[in-house]
Amino acid sequence: MSEFDLEKIFSEWNHEAFEGELSLPEIRWNSRLRTSAGRFIPDPSGCVIEVASYLRDELEAEKLIRDTLGHEMIHYWLFVKNLPYGHTPQFHEKMESIGVSRYNPVPKHRPFKHCYECRGCGQRIFVRKRLRLAACAACCNEHADGRYDSRFKLKLLASGEAVLRDQIPLKRSG
Ligand SMILES: [Zn+2]
Ligand SMILES: [Zn+2]
Repeated sequence: MSEFDLEKIFSEWNHEAFEGELSLPEIRWNSRLRTSAGRFIPDPSGCVIEVASYLRDELEAEKLIRDTLGHEMIHYWLFVKNLPYGHTPQFHEKMESIGVSRYNPVPKHRPFKHCYECRGCGQRIFVRKRLRLAACAACCNEHADGRYDSRFKLKLLASGEAVLRDQIPLKRSG
């Protein structure tokens, strides 16, 4: 059991910063989240917000958990309003207006800095150093006899804060 009640913190944020507009999504702790403090999983049939369990052991646990939930709630709020829900200018504007800290420390592990995606299979790869010319090993092995094939060149999805903070938002089809 946790002394931190995520639904209660959600409800506080909702009234303080979102005019009570947001309906309660599924909110859960995730003990496997390591490279990020939180995650928003968009799903029209029921969104999910995850908060990394390790935050509970941090010195400023309460503040970090509140900040993380607030951050993910902005993604959720934009999604509900049918707006782009990544780290857009509107996201930053809301973040500043409601007082969510800009940076969320993700201690314990050196964070990944860049996120790449395979053009072929869509697999995401998180790395610390920028890749210059790299392709997805799985796809090259399967479709190109293990040789480099530009069809499976990795595409840079995001760098920096977006990668540190949470997962890159999922792509929606259609
Ligand atoms: Zn691939
Ligand atoms: Zn985010």
